[in-house]
Order: sequence, then structure tokens, then C-alpha cells
Amino acid sequence: ELPTESLVSLYQRSVREGGAAVALEFFGRETTYTEFGDQVERAAEGLRRLGVKAGDRVALILPNCPQHVVAFYAVMRLGAVVVEHNPLYTARELRHLFEDHGARVVIAMDATVSKLREQPADIELDHIVAVNLLKAFPLAKQLALKLPLKKLRATRAKLTQPAPGTMSWEELLSAPPIDAGHPAPSVHDLAVIQYTSGTTGQPKGAMLTHSNLFANARQGEAWMHGAEYRKEVFYAILPMFHAFGMTLFVTYGILKQGRLVLFPSFDVDLVLEAAKKHPPTVYCAVPPIYETTAREAKKRGISLRSAKYCISGAMALPDSTVELWESVSGGLLVEGYGMTEASPVCLGNPFAESRRTGTIGVPFPSTWMKVVDTEDPTREVERGERGELLIRGPQVFQGYWHNDVETERTLLPGGWLRTGDVVTVDEDGFTTIVDRVKELIITGGFNVAPSEVELVLRAHPDVVDVAVVGMPNQEVGGERVVAAVVAEPGKVVTHAALRAWCKERLTGYKVPREFYVVDELPKSMLGKVLRKQVRDELDAKTPLVHG
Ligand code: ATP
Ligand code: MG
Repeated sequence: ELPTESLVSLYQRSVREGGAAVALEFFGRETTYTEFGDQVERAAEGLRRLGVKAGDRVALILPNCPQHVVAFYAVMRLGAVVVEHNPLYTARELRHLFEDHGARVVIAMDATVSKLREQPADIELDHIVAVNLLKAFPLAKQLALKLPLKKLRATRAKLTQPAPGTMSWEELLSAPPIDAGHPAPSVHDLAVIQYTSGTTGQPKGAMLTHSNLFANARQGEAWMHGAEYRKEVFYAILPMFHAFGMTLFVTYGILKQGRLVLFPSFDVDLVLEAAKKHPPTVYCAVPPIYETTAREAKKRGISLRSAKYCISGAMALPDSTVELWESVSGGLLVEGYGMTEASPVCLGNPFAESRRTGTIGVPFPSTWMKVVDTEDPTREVERGERGELLIRGPQVFQGYWHNDVETERTLLPGGWLRTGDVVTVDEDGFTTIVDRVKELIITGGFNVAPSEVELVLRAHPDVVDVAVVGMPNQEVGGERVVAAVVAEPGKVVTHAALRAWCKERLTGYKVPREFYVVDELPKSMLGKVLRKQVRDELDAKTPLVHG
């Protein structure tokens, strides 16, 4: 059952068998599997000449682009460790991560190079390989303005040449292919340090081995058992620097010898334009992306019936999104569940009518779960009761990089991973996420799950978006339930109206004491509400007047 090969064997097999099939497509430019393999072997030799050795960390700061996939495997070919970064991170955020992982070689999009070099980042590096997306793909030029990479526009002039002291990607690839006898990593070697999203605090570097990642790609294969080799068209919209995108596209997509159509960010015009030429068969995203894609496809009369494998994860999937998406797609939209620490997928719904919307489905093959008391993880709760989800399986990580305290709290004896998520399991074994342990609000001895209150408020006709958080209760201790609400444009929401709405639908202690009106909610890259940041922001605001 356990993988016996590294990801290097995975990609080499796909290159051999895939041959002239297209591996990567980016703004209309195609790279075959043979060409992809050649680029990986050259980039690996280029990196070797820069001094990269087995076990070294190499930082990637790239949006989805062909160089990203090539760099990922080239680093692994040397037995070195990939560390992914969000290219939109600020200099400060980057410095924090570099201080943690200590990579000395970086492969970065040109626009981020200056960010690394200048204050406040000022990171000490041996080599920077600059990937010039505009130069390599002139077609991307006119589209660059649409990317959320605002820096790109400002530094357009600088982009025509690599910054001094950097090496261009093309230069790196001018090396010959690496010697076939150069040792490849073993299956238990570290493959990536993947940082968590930082939703609940500072991002933590999850150590994942080749075995972990290969196992999750194989588990994904068993899940999507009908997916055919060389036939699937993967729309790589989710960022590959996040665990979800990395596994779905960079490992599973390559394992299936699929065509990866790469999007540097989600842009519905680009997606629907591409769908006219090579319609997606695998369309994995998050709920807001499904909503926008479906709505626009309907409006423009573009068919998405080709989409057979549609997986939503990272946040709750509303029934209304499922209904809307399935009115345009050719397959069911199923919900899965994962976390960076589990490579990432652990549970999923079947691609069959037996799927259960509103749940995250059942454990993956060779994955075990149990539900335990949130205070005492040695005590399992009764079926149907709420508790913290624990996971065990070949995809579970090795611990956090240089953080034994967190590792010990998270990885329990016997290989059980504490997910930090509160769930219930129904009589057929389908699991439902209630909320995160950290987000539960303790108010007067009762536990309130913010997600439950948010669901009620989101249904209010004048409410566009909402985040419910616990704020410290000065007088009596504990916390009070508070809601930050984004109102429908032009609508005035009042304390009395929102409170009455909640009182009709929720027990007293769950009804927010205060409501704040905000312009927008702080969200992560994938669109998750950052409730910690919400709390900090509300501290400085005045709530709606009572009455
Ligand atoms: P951090 O650990 O740094 O606070 P994070 O937990 O958001 O950030 P990720 O590893 O990207 O970082 O996300 C995993 C989390 O995402 C899970 O623990 C869970 O809370 C949430 N999640 C994943 N899938 C779903 C889903 N289908 N429904 C609801 N929540 C989900
Ligand atoms: Mg987490």
C-alpha cells in the first residue's frame, strides 16, 4: 500500500509514457511531456551547478506557470526540498518565512526579486533565478494588467532584463541534462516544506516526504477512479503554492499524464476563453470560483459539460453553489476535506449519487479517523456527538520544521494528527465540519460555533457577507458573540433588525450581542475569512447602536 518510489520516479514515468502528449499549457503555449522532462533535467543540472545539494531548501516564489512545475521537479531531482511561497506576500511576510526555512537559493517571478533584496526583507541569499513571465510569454503581456500581481505593472520597465546579480531562468536551463547517475531522493526523504495558510496564526512549515505526497496522489487516483491517463484536462486555477493545488495539479495531474492548463490567478474571462479550445475535465476550485464560473458560463452560453471531476475544499460548500454549478457542469460537484499537514486530502465524497452535500464525505483509502473530546484527545466521543477530528494515514506529515512544541501538540502517539477541526459523524459515516476548535466561542459556559451563526446571518436578505467571532467579555470573563456584517450596497442594517432575525432562528446564547458593519472581510488567498484579523479590526470600531 505504501509508496515505494519518490516523486522523481513519478514524473520520470509520466515523461516516458506521456511523450508527445501536452503536459503544460500557458496562454496557448504548449509543452509536451518530453520537453517538460528535458527542462526538468536541465534545470536540475543548472541548480546543481549553483551548489544545490540533497537536503538543501530551495524557495519558489511563483504563480502558476510552466516554470513552476519544472522547478518543483528539478529541485526534487537533486533530493533538495521545495519551499513554496505566495508571490503576493509582503517583504515582511517573506522575511519571516526565510528566517524559518533558511533557503539560500530562490526561483522567483521577476517582480518579486526586488522585494527580496530591499528593506524590510533584505534576505541573505546565494542565488536568485528570475523567471520573466512577460518575456517568455508575450501573450501574457496584455493580460498582465488583470493579474492580481499589481507590482507587475509598476515594474514592467524593469522586467525587460533580469535584476543585477540574478540569473535568468533561460540561463539556468542552458545547462545540459543532469547525469542520469546522479542520485535521486529516497521515498522517505523530505520533499517539501509546505506552509499552512496562517488562518489561525503564523503559518507553520509542514514537513512532507516523497512518500506522503505520492500516497496522496495515489489516494486521489483511487477517489477519481474513472479518470483516464493522458485524457484529462486539468484547469490549474488554485495556486500551486498551496497544498490543495500542489497535490491536485503538480503531483496528481502529472501522475495521470494530464494536460495542465495553467492560470496565474483566477480570471473568469481567461477560463471561459480557454474552455472554448480545451474544455476542462477536471475543475477543482473553491466555492466562490464555482459560483462565478457557473454564472458567467450561463450568461455567455459556454458549455462546461466536459467537467466530470469537480472538487471543492478549503471551506464549507453551500448547497446553492452545488445546485448552480451542476446546472452547467457534466459531473457532480463533491466536497472534500484536507489540511496542509496531511498532504493535504483526508476525506472526500464519492463521485456518485451517494455523495452527501453539506458533508465532507468519508475517509480516503488507507486513512483512519476518530472523533475525540476537544479537551482530552484520548477519549473518543459517541457517534453523532461533536468532537475534534483525528486522522491517521500515509499522507500525514512528519512534523513542523524547527517547531517541536507545535509538532508535539499536533502529532499524537500512534501517528494521529490533531486537525483542530470540530466535526460530527452521521450513522452512515459521513462527516460534517462544525467549526475549528480555536474558533469556538465560550460564552457563559456554552460553546457557540461561529459557522452556525454565520449561516443564519448570511441568509438575511440585506447581508452579503458575515464573520462571527468571540470577543473577550470584560465584566464577567469568557467571551461574547459578535458579528461583523457586510451589508448589501444601498441597504441600511440595524442592530434591532439583525438581532430579531437571529433570535427567531437561534437559541439565546448564540445570538450576537453586537453587530459591526464593515466594508469587507479580511480573507486568505483561497478566500477563507481570517477571523483572528477580524477580531483585531473590530477592536478599533464602534458597533451598531443598540435599540
Ligand atoms: P493555519 O493552520 O495556519 O491556521 P489553515 O488551517 O487555514 O491555516 P490549511 O492547511 O490551508 O491552513 O487549511 C486547512 C483547514 O481548512 C482545515 O483544518 C479546515 O479548518 C479547513 N477546511 C478544509 N476543507 C474544508 C471543508 N471542506 N469545509 C470546511 N473547512 C475546510
Ligand atoms: Mg491549520
